[in-house]
Amino acid sequence: MRAAVLEAPGRLVVRDVAEPEGPERVRVRVDQVGVCGTDRKVVDGSIPVALPRVIGHELVGRVVDGGTGGHEGAGGPPSGPRVLVDPSVSCGRCSPCRRGQVHLCPTGGLMGRDVDGGLAELVAAPVDRLHVVPESVHDTDAALLQVLGTCVHAQRQVDVFPGDRTVVVGLGVSGLLHLQLLRARGAATVVGVGRSAAKRELAASLGATATCTPEEAPGLVADLTAGDCANVVVEAAGTGATVGLAVELAGYGATVVVFGTIPDGATSMPFYELYRKELRLVNPRAAVGRDYDDAIAMVASGAVTGRPLVTGRLPLDAAPEVLGSWDRDPGRLKVVFEL
Ligand SMILES: [Zn+2]
Ligand SMILES: [Zn+2]
Repeated sequence: MRAAVLEAPGRLVVRDVAEPEGPERVRVRVDQVGVCGTDRKVVDGSIPVALPRVIGHELVGRVVDGGTGGHEGAGGPPSGPRVLVDPSVSCGRCSPCRRGQVHLCPTGGLMGRDVDGGLAELVAAPVDRLHVVPESVHDTDAALLQVLGTCVHAQRQVDVFPGDRTVVVGLGVSGLLHLQLLRARGAATVVGVGRSAAKRELAASLGATATCTPEEAPGLVADLTAGDCANVVVEAAGTGATVGLAVELAGYGATVVVFGTIPDGATSMPFYELYRKELRLVNPRAAVGRDYDDAIAMVASGAVTGRPLVTGRLPLDAAPEVLGSWDRDPGRLKVVFEL
């Protein structure tokens, strides 16, 4: 079967690899795979992985068969239900796994990084990692479900009530999904903060009640809240500066959700501000099964859409070029490969 394989840092190739096997795993014919910054970092070597490695963790496909045997190869017709594959890998035996926190398994990992991933014609996954996506869900919405699952996981950790004043810092794919979730949960005010005018426009069309640049944000948020600032701030850009801005935009007693992954040393935490405003800092990681089920339900109901966030649908063969030129396309949102 064909797959996008990282052979060395910076060298991604599309070539034939052996089909996945495993008597306890279900084989899924992959339809589409989204890529994100994690894939780009795996490809350029800033996230080191064992080589060679099939990349990709945001995948949707159709169940082919319940294990090895090769009843239908990669060239056969679609069969079985369409499924989202939860890309996390866990041991099932450690203390976090036994408590149901499989996403925190210390020996666990991510498909496409720690084990072979889904930018391939076929994958095999344990049955409990498959989530059925109803046929009523548009293919393009389905492509965003893995990311949406992680946003749901994050927002599950914070209360949002009608009337709440909220801010999303960073209007990339995850920021634009967080913004829709906050509206769906009833937040009265959702301010989208981002540098790109096009992304601010998109945020407004997806339900942001106001949008602004990072520089304008402190003044605008203060104006919109009579000086109180926000109850909930979601940081979805993943830089030290945006964490600092999120803390600045948070009002007394607020919750700051640090959704972006902040590397060590990227910021000095403003501890006095956390204390002075008695802020609650939440730093969610990955997602668990119910988050993916809720993400699917939300997209099926129309509460959240991924369609405007997909800026490219390309064939598998384009993966090396797209991931190699990632930084030259700042207007890009979600790029999806079709298999
Ligand atoms: Zn991703
Ligand atoms: Zn474990």
